[in-house]
Amino acid sequence: MIEQRHKRAFEAVRDLVGETPDLAAFAQWPDAVVYEGSTIKTVPAADILHAWNVGRGDAAGRLHEAIRGLAHHVAWRQSYTEAEVGADFLARYGWFELIGPGGFYRSGNYRAYIGFWDHGLHYPWHLHEAEELYYVISGEAEFEAEGETPATLGPGDTRHHAGYQPHAMTTRDAPVLTLVLWRGPGLTGSPRMGRT
Ligand code: ZN
Repeated sequence: MIEQRHKRAFEAVRDLVGETPDLAAFAQWPDAVVYEGSTIKTVPAADILHAWNVGRGDAAGRLHEAIRGLAHHVAWRQSYTEAEVGADFLARYGWFELIGPGGFYRSGNYRAYIGFWDHGLHYPWHLHEAEELYYVISGEAEFEAEGETPATLGPGDTRHHAGYQPHAMTTRDAPVLTLVLWRGPGLTGSPRMGRT
């Protein structure tokens, strides 16, 4: 049943946030979330993610499995056009909002989404008003941000971006699955390409 799959993912995020100090400190876990269900919109990346079994039993591994189980039961979104990122990027990336103003668990003051990028993709420089915390669930990617040393991050690593701080990301041999939290002004905003 789809609601059970959604609930399993919600609880896996809640458990992971509860045992990860960086995530717990970034934003207060919402008390009042309302289950709204989700429309279904698929992207090609859903099939790639669905086939990706990492076989780990820790909290992040359980979240990975819960997200795999959701791959065909959520409203995937893509923020960019083919002109901005190219057809290959659009064929192998996607994100969906799990908790938030547009999430299937509705909250007005918390936003948690899941982002997936297959191997060998460059997510160009972009920025947005909201503050952001990335958490790598599985795989790895190189994170770049203006004013910071580039870093290759793997499972359990986090990366903070200030509001309007330009950032970029590159996957090489492995895909990456991330949990992304937003907070502050611009919570319902969208990213835009560029460095300014
Ligand atoms: Zn960002």
